[in-house]
Amino acid sequence: MLANSLIELDRAHLIHPVSSYRGHEKLGVRVLRSAKGATVTEASGHQLVDGFAGLWCVNAGYGHESIVEAAARQMRELPYATGYFDLGCEAAIRLAAELADRAPGDLNHIYFTLGGSDAVDSTVRFIRYYWHAKGKPERDQFISIEQGYHGSSTVGAGLTALPGFHAGFGVPFDWQHKIPSPYPYRNPVGTNADAIIAASIRDLKSKIEAIGAERVAAFYAEPIQGSGGVIVPPKGWIKAIRDLCSQYDILFIADEVITGFGRTGPLFACSQDEIVPDFMTTAKGLTSGYVPMGAVFMSDRVYNVIADAAGNTAVGHGYTYSAHPVSAAVGLEVLKLYEGGLLENGVKAGARLMAGLESLRDHPLVGDVRGRGMLAAVELVVDKIKKTPLPSAAMPARRIFDRAWENGLVIRAFSHGVLGYAPPLCCTDDDIDAILERTRKTLDQTLEDPDVREAMR
Ligand code: PLP
Repeated sequence: MLANSLIELDRAHLIHPVSSYRGHEKLGVRVLRSAKGATVTEASGHQLVDGFAGLWCVNAGYGHESIVEAAARQMRELPYATGYFDLGCEAAIRLAAELADRAPGDLNHIYFTLGGSDAVDSTVRFIRYYWHAKGKPERDQFISIEQGYHGSSTVGAGLTALPGFHAGFGVPFDWQHKIPSPYPYRNPVGTNADAIIAASIRDLKSKIEAIGAERVAAFYAEPIQGSGGVIVPPKGWIKAIRDLCSQYDILFIADEVITGFGRTGPLFACSQDEIVPDFMTTAKGLTSGYVPMGAVFMSDRVYNVIADAAGNTAVGHGYTYSAHPVSAAVGLEVLKLYEGGLLENGVKAGARLMAGLESLRDHPLVGDVRGRGMLAAVELVVDKIKKTPLPSAAMPARRIFDRAWENGLVIRAFSHGVLGYAPPLCCTDDDIDAILERTRKTLDQTLEDPDVREAMR
C-alpha cells in the first residue's frame, strides 16, 4: 500500500536522472528500502545482490556503522564550515592531506567538489586559468574520447561522447573535440594491443595537428571507459597517450570518478598504469556514496602557476559545499575501511568475478568479457563471428535488466547490449557466486526472448 502511494507520488513529482520521463511514468519506480553488505532490499521485501554498487559508487558496501558514526559525530560537532574567507575544518584538511599522501606523483593539491560532474567542470575552469596565467589564452581547445563519459554539467556533457547527453542540449561546443575509442573488441585495426595503441597515437597526433598544437589546452581520458560500456584499453595505452600529451605540452586529465578508490584494485588506476596526470578527478568511492563528494587532484606544477599568477587576488572558483565537513569525515572513515582490508578483499573478489565471467564465454550470447578488479563487462551479441549486437527494436537492455532484477541481481544493462558489473569491494565468495549464477540464468532466459531468437536465425 505504502509502495503504491509512493509510486504515484514519484510519478507526479520526482524527475529521475537520465530517464525517459514518459517511459518512467508508465513503468513506475522500484522503491528500495534498505541495504546491508552487498544486498539491497526492495519495499516489497525482494532481496538482490547489488552487482553495480548503486551507481558504481558504494565501493565499501552498505551498512557500515563506523561511517554512520563518523557522519553523526561531525554533524553534532560542526555540520558546516565554509572554505571561503580562509576558513576551514579539521576533517577536510586531514582528508586532503591523506589523499595527497596516497596520490600518484606530485598530485599534492586537492579541491573538493560535490561529485564527479563538478570535479570535471572545475578542471576546465582551472585549465583555462592556467593557460591564461602562462600567457597562452589561445590554448582553449579540449580533446576527449568517443564513448567517454565526463559528467552531465553543460561543459562536461560536451566532453562526454555519448549521444544521449548531446541531443537537444546544444553540446558539444566547437572547442570540444574527440578521437576514437581504443575499444579492443570493436576496433577497425583489430584486437592487437600494439596496433590499437599505435592507432590512438596516430588519431591524437592528427587531431592535435588539425586543431593546431599551440591551441590545445588539455586531453581527458578515463583509465577504463565506464559509461561507454566498461571499455578496457590495452596495457600501456594510457601511458603512451600521456607521453604524447607531454611532448606537446598538453595537460592530461585522468578521470578516475569510477576507477578510483579500489574499483580496479589499488586506490587509483593511474598507479597501476604507472602514470602521473596533471589532474585527476574522483568522486563516487571517495565517500562510497554515503554522502556526496568529489575531489580534483592538482599537480604541484599546475598549482604553482595558478597560485603565482593570482598572487593576492582570489581565484574565482568555489562552491558553498566545497570541502563539506560531513562528507570529509565520511571520506576519512571510508579510507580507513579501504586500507583496513576492503581493498584486499576487492582484489580477491575481483579475481573470482573475472574468472567466473570468463567462464560465460561458452554461452551463445557472450561475445566478449573484459574488466579489471571489481569493474567488468560482458558484451552480448547474436552472432559471435560478425559481432552483431542484440536487436535494438527488442529493447534488450531494459528486458535484461528486468530479468536480472527478478532473478535477484542488480546489473547495469547498457543499451547496446553490454552488461556492466561493479560490485562492492566487501563482496563475499557467496555474493560473487550469486552474481555469476544469476547472470547465467538471465542469459539463458534472454536466449528464449523471441526477438533475440529471431535475430539469431
Ligand atoms: N566522470 C566519470 C568518468 C564518471 O563515470 C562520472 C559519473 O558516472 C562522472 C564524471 C560524473 O560524476 P557525477 O555523476 O558524480 O556527477
